[in-house]
Amino acid sequence: MRMRKKPNLPKRLERCAGMILEEPTAYCGKWLSTFGGSQLHLEIGAGKGKFLVETAKENPDIFFVGIEREEGALVVAAEKAIAAGLSNIRFLDVDAVNLPDFFATGELDRIYLNFSDPWPKKKQWKRRLTYRSFLSLYWDALKADGAIFQKTDNQKLFEFSLNEFSEVGYRLKNITFDLHATDTPNIMTEYETRFTELGMPIYRTEAYKQETKRT
Ligand code: SAH
Repeated sequence: MRMRKKPNLPKRLERCAGMILEEPTAYCGKWLSTFGGSQLHLEIGAGKGKFLVETAKENPDIFFVGIEREEGALVVAAEKAIAAGLSNIRFLDVDAVNLPDFFATGELDRIYLNFSDPWPKKKQWKRRLTYRSFLSLYWDALKADGAIFQKTDNQKLFEFSLNEFSEVGYRLKNITFDLHATDTPNIMTEYETRFTELGMPIYRTEAYKQETKRT
């Protein structure tokens, strides 16, 4: 997410102490025993946090973690969670590539990927959050019955992702090329609101872990 320079960012980040965790490796393998909750859900690239904060509000029994490497967006997300008075959500200022430092094998029930960067050039594809090396990290972090829920406006990224999911051995369910034309319950993200206003369809899939990992 591209951000304008924010001169008061350090002060705002300071006020979010406790909501943005300083030493996230300390919670690896201990998320639910530390914070409570029946399930652990993660959003990767949470942006300004609308989706995760609203989802956390609706699901007080689930503990939510949002990771976002752009501080300017992260601080907005953390401020939203604080304003909503939520105790079942925290944010991490980290990169998805380091996921195993923060989540133990089989610790996650669900991963959300919402409007991930499309990285259109072929030589950038390895940076896509649905590139097979990322999907393999997620696989290890997910429980046996865990799943990844992906939404995007980008057809090319979606086609790529479906192929990558299947390559790594995920079982795809509920694929749609027009989410808003279905009756799937849906909480809109910031990007989703923007693209929907432009009349663009939203693609969505659920990718379930199963016993036959291939790569
Ligand atoms: N999910 C939000 C934001 C989408 S933009 C929404 O739908 O509105 C994609 C976000 O992913 C950006 O904010 C970007 O900073 C973040 N991101 C991209 N790659 C990342 C990575 N490797 N680790 C953590 N965050 C990442």
